[in-house]
Amino acid sequence: MNHCEPFKGLLVGLLDGELTPDETRQINDHLTRCAACRAEYEQLRETTGKLAAISFQEPDDAVLARVWKSPFSRLARNTSLVLIIGGYASLMGYGLFEFLTSGKDELPAKMGLAAIVLGFLILLVQLIRERVRTYQTDPYKEIER
Ligand SMILES: [Zn+2]
Repeated sequence: MNHCEPFKGLLVGLLDGELTPDETRQINDHLTRCAACRAEYEQLRETTGKLAAISFQEPDDAVLARVWKSPFSRLARNTSLVLIIGGYASLMGYGLFEFLTSGKDELPAKMGLAAIVLGFLILLVQLIRERVRTYQTDPYKEIER
């Protein structure tokens, strides 16, 4: 296989990533057609211990990023947020109800608790408004303003 000879020298360069773009194109073009050189390239790659570990890392990261940004995980995060806040609000409401109906006349304490609950509710409303506004962000509305 005389036509392979020029490419033999390029195989090592390809492994080390030292080829010019033109050389890389040529060797890749040859490797797609020549099983003998492909086998030699694979063997060379194994013996030099270059198992392209780095190139396997990137798809994993991409998959992870895609999962994290997927509508489902966003829904899950929002759901968990709603559950936590909802549960907290329920406890606060229950505590307030129990406290106010307990019959003990401790006005300062009641007022303090009422202030905390009121503050929490304002915060909650603000948070929900912020969320809703984020979802309704529309690039076309921005242009009209
Ligand atoms: Zn060849």
